[in-house]
Amino acid sequence: MRLEPVKLKKMVRGILATRPDEIGCDECFAQLDRFVEMQLAGKNAAEAMPLVHDHLERCHDCREEFEALLAALRALE
Ligand SMILES: [Zn+2]
Repeated sequence: MRLEPVKLKKMVRGILATRPDEIGCDECFAQLDRFVEMQLAGKNAAEAMPLVHDHLERCHDCREEFEALLAALRALE
């Protein structure tokens, strides 16, 4: 069976997201702009949204997305 990289990535993500108190990439992404806004407002986003913060620590893809969003919003200011 030949695995496409995208499918493989999803499988790996599925394996990594085993703890019930962890959120997945979809949920992280859905909350990411709020997280970034809090960060930019100087609030403790990690404390207010620990699950998003936790996911960003573990997930390279979402981390990149987060940093890109943060940089984009900072550039606007
Ligand atoms: Zn993710």
